[in-house]
Amino acid sequence: MSATTAQAVLSLLGDADRVALQEICGDRIRFNEPLAPYTSWKIGGPADAFATVETQSQLADLLRFCLRRRMPWWIIGAGSNVLVGDGGVRGIVMRLAGEFAAAHVRAEDHRVIVVAGGSADMALVTAKAASAGANGIGSLAGIPGTVGGSLRMNAGTDREIGEFVREVWVQSPSRPEPHPASVRYLYRQSTLARDVVVSRVVLEFARSSAGDVRSEMQTRLVRRKKTQPIALPNAGSCFRNPPEDKAARLIEAAGAKGWREGNAEVSSLHANFINNLGGATAKDVATLLARVRRAVRDRWNVELKLEVHLVGVFIDAT
Ligand SMILES: Cc1cc2nc3c(=O)[nH]c(=O)nc-3n(C[C@H](O)[C@H](O)[C@H](O)COP(=O)(O)OP(=O)(O)OC[C@H]3O[C@@H](n4cnc5c(N)ncnc54)[C@H](O)[C@@H]3O)c2cc1C
Repeated sequence: MSATTAQAVLSLLGDADRVALQEICGDRIRFNEPLAPYTSWKIGGPADAFATVETQSQLADLLRFCLRRRMPWWIIGAGSNVLVGDGGVRGIVMRLAGEFAAAHVRAEDHRVIVVAGGSADMALVTAKAASAGANGIGSLAGIPGTVGGSLRMNAGTDREIGEFVREVWVQSPSRPEPHPASVRYLYRQSTLARDVVVSRVVLEFARSSAGDVRSEMQTRLVRRKKTQPIALPNAGSCFRNPPEDKAARLIEAAGAKGWREGNAEVSSLHANFINNLGGATAKDVATLLARVRRAVRDRWNVELKLEVHLVGVFIDAT
């Protein structure tokens, strides 16, 4: 290991930090915790500290600590759109749970209101909202993320979550108590500030027949199963679609389906997905991403942009 790599994987935490974190988080803090189990790709080295945060006041305390100690931090949702480096993540990785996982749905005369915590599971939210007749919720069905991650990514299909957002509540190191934020939504991204955690979201849908909404959702879920390798570890589409085209079409036409690096493979079902065939490293995936991007550039003169977020330290894992 080179001196630079050794430096990059060195924990930023001192003994006093560990004690302070244990005081704030109790047994919900783990040190040197591998992140692979927390990502849909099942890839990623250790976090210096991994905190499971269950209440808004715990989150506020942890964010205050980060500000005071100038400690880097990062929030992970369901980990379904991230590639975490084999060298792991320095500082604190936070994951919301407890009260943040709740989702309440109420039907009013002509609309359906969803109030969800930042780590509410999209599967739970979409199922509950569909049962109340939330028109348009089918567009968000089958997205394996949390509400907070989906908001940051403006996740969706033909319609995106941003279209339905009425309120977003966030917490940050400089303003740790929950407060409303104003956010704009763009294709697979939002203007949500980098240093905020989404703690609560209110969504609003027009109301229609619950039966119709549920059956539309079912049709979409069946189609998804046929067109995406959902049984294998991956992170969905790796690249954003370029204007007026589909990344999957360009990748397939560049002949990349089935390409392999180590134990990572370009899916032969959906060319914009990269599957972990078992034991793939972040380096395998990153190398494959670079190969695919180069092939599409050479063949089509199109520069693909990553949809997945790369996080942490990328090193040679071997
Ligand atoms: C099989 C499969 C199918 C998919 N299909 C789709 C699809 O149809 N459409 C689509 O848009 N996406 C799709 N995705 C990608 C992914 O599911 C979405 O982007 C999802 O919304 C990410 O949510 P997450 O909770 O997993 O976020 P993560 O992957 O954990 O994080 C993504 C980003 O959001 C940030 N983040 C997470 N939680 C919070 C929070 N509470 N506050 C602030 N920032 C936060 C993270 O720091 C990171 O930068 C698919 C993925 C898979 C594996």
